[in-house]
Amino acid sequence: MTDGTSTTGSRRTAGAASGRTRAAAAAATEDRARTVRPEQVVVDEPPPEPDYPRYRVEPGTGVRLAEVDPDESEHYQKKKQVVPELEKQRKRIADLQARLYGENRRSMLLVLQAMDTGGKDGTIKHVFQGVNPQGCQVWSFKAPSAEESGHDFLWRYHQRVPPRGMIHIFNRSHYEDVLVVRVKGLVPEEVWRPRYEVINQFEHALALSGVTVLKFYLHISKEEQKRRLESRLADPDKRWKFSANDLRERRSWDDYMAAFEEAITNTSTDVAPWYVVPADNKWYRNLVIARTIADTLEAMDPQFPAPEAGLDQVVVED
Ligand code: ATP
Ligand code: MG
Repeated sequence: MTDGTSTTGSRRTAGAASGRTRAAAAAATEDRARTVRPEQVVVDEPPPEPDYPRYRVEPGTGVRLAEVDPDESEHYQKKKQVVPELEKQRKRIADLQARLYGENRRSMLLVLQAMDTGGKDGTIKHVFQGVNPQGCQVWSFKAPSAEESGHDFLWRYHQRVPPRGMIHIFNRSHYEDVLVVRVKGLVPEEVWRPRYEVINQFEHALALSGVTVLKFYLHISKEEQKRRLESRLADPDKRWKFSANDLRERRSWDDYMAAFEEAITNTSTDVAPWYVVPADNKWYRNLVIARTIADTLEAMDPQFPAPEAGLDQVVVED
């Protein structure tokens, strides 16, 4: 039809439909966002210990990395003090992960980003001890292969997002495509800058599909990185970890800080928040991250499926 009346009519219909669509998306988003402030759901007496919510970058607020002390550890002074508490959080993660796996309905994606020596590997090792390896997978992302570079930048990451029931950990992630790529000038700004928006849409889509997305930036100081690089050089058992490339990247420290700051500010959202975690003290870092994950899993409240009916009458024959 080409007459004016029916055109207006169909526009009105389309308008109403998109209103409904927007409302449905907003309701689903709000539902997802509830697990993103887990302390409001699962902590009886705020603030929790450790006080992880203080490290969450609230959407729209922005972060100044220079204002977050990498050496912060609240009232905790040494590793010994936090060992039992870390053990408790690990146990919670293991139990809740078993439920998430049994429920087989939702999943969790954890993103770890940091400067070299920042502690991504150590975090994985210490926080996920005791978790059933069947329900948890780690994906480490290096410079993309020729095949990966031939696709849109999200392609290789999207294939690794967790299916139902699983926790996946990204050791480096799609954020490299607005970090190293920017600092090294691998693509021009008009290519990397729109990626913030693309990343937000990607993570939003994941959230609406039942993936809880949590992102951690492990915040170390430049001095601490120097100490860690020196200790890799000094210890024969750590030398294999030393890479001359780390020294080259270190020269771009300020550029990386600017890139992290802008990336985190632009991509901490209602459904996929960033936590900037002080990481000069490894034991404090582990405790903060473990508690954040445990509380978020608890806020998700995964449930084992209901058993079949009539199990009380079942007899297993000899
Ligand atoms: P570790 O040193 O603890 O083994 P790592 O993550 O630093 O872990 P490396 O092999 O040292 O691993 O470094 C991987 C490199 O790949 C990093 O320098 C990182 O910046 C780079 N990289 C990751 N993703 C991309 C990407 N999308 N584009 C370009 N470079 C990338
Ligand atoms: Mg490295």
